[in-house]
Amino acid sequence: MREIVHVQAGQCGNQIGSKFWEIISDEHGVGPDGVYMGQNPQQLERISVYYNEAGSGHYVPRAVLVDLEPGTMDSVRSGPYGQLFRPDNFVFGQSGAGNNWAKGHYTEGAELVDSVMDVIRKEAEGCDCLQGFQLTHSLGGGTGSGMGTLLLSKIREEFPDRIMSTFSVVPSPKVSEVVLEPYNATLSVHQLVENTDMTFCIDNEALYNICFRTLRLASPSYGDLNHLISLTMSGVTTCFRFPGQLNADLRKLAVNMVPFPRLHFFMPGFAPLTAKNSFDYRAQSVPELMTQMFNPGNMMTACDPRHGRYLTVATIFRGRMSMKEVDEQILAIQNKNSRRTNCAVRPIRRWLRCYWLMERRRTNRQRLDMHVAG
Ligand code: GDP
Repeated sequence: MREIVHVQAGQCGNQIGSKFWEIISDEHGVGPDGVYMGQNPQQLERISVYYNEAGSGHYVPRAVLVDLEPGTMDSVRSGPYGQLFRPDNFVFGQSGAGNNWAKGHYTEGAELVDSVMDVIRKEAEGCDCLQGFQLTHSLGGGTGSGMGTLLLSKIREEFPDRIMSTFSVVPSPKVSEVVLEPYNATLSVHQLVENTDMTFCIDNEALYNICFRTLRLASPSYGDLNHLISLTMSGVTTCFRFPGQLNADLRKLAVNMVPFPRLHFFMPGFAPLTAKNSFDYRAQSVPELMTQMFNPGNMMTACDPRHGRYLTVATIFRGRMSMKEVDEQILAIQNKNSRRTNCAVRPIRRWLRCYWLMERRRTNRQRLDMHVAG
């Protein structure tokens, strides 16, 4: 089985990471104590992608929890699924990063990073055939962004041929007004470009807009935003966790989705959108879901796709529906958009060619550097 090691760093990273484990444990029939309670053999078929089996029907998340202050991890531990995680995999400091990227990347974080790597190494060594890593973090703070990106480069150094994917929460002044956040985010993006294979951009601005406009919540809380994030994370990891053919592991998804190594920032969309603790009362048809999925209001990144071009798209449908209808709808969407693409295809091609040349020059230069250094 091809395993994934999950790492969560900082306040936001730990909060969204814990929600992710809650939702996937529910989907795989794993209770808060780690005991399997489900009925469906499909729940267990690929459970070892995310969980270690600890004997007697016990499943333990292959997760490493990291923070520079103990507060958030204490609340994870005392939360409903706190007992699920392996106690040795909680690694935390006391000093905090004070929303300062450099503290996370160069000082406080750098002091803790070796003990985190020890735990990650141990998890990786226990795997049969590790496929890669996933990190949940925010880009606006100090720990998740500064130390999170330090971890990325350390992991890259030690496991250069494994896939690295991140769920990165982009800051927005609508949600948090700390003036340092754009700087922290800019410094992090620079690292993500170099050191990850896939990044799912989850934008607090878009989440806030969805909560406020679509779900009509007057003052959205982090709980509401995190609910949307956990739905998205569960959605994009479905193919890894359940039996199927398409995009069945991190590498296959990366190969299908990433046209150029540095161009790997994804914009997730989700349909149907529902508020926490509420159902969707409408019956959903395939065309309706498809329209919603491509609606700018359903995107988790606050940029309007109508002002740009899709280079690649993956759609993941869950539940019972007609495959024929899905194929027809996908074709309809492609045809509808290809007209717009045609008129812009030349500039895109020109741009892609420039990009490709730049990349080639860069790799040649790197090769040359290595040659000189060697
Ligand atoms: P760190 O602990 O130093 O990594 O700092 P934080 O994770 O608190 O980073 C601050 C940024 O994360 C701000 O942009 C916050 O809006 C955002 N943030 C913090 N907690 C959450 C959360 O639970 N959900 C979401 N969506 N964003 C969060």
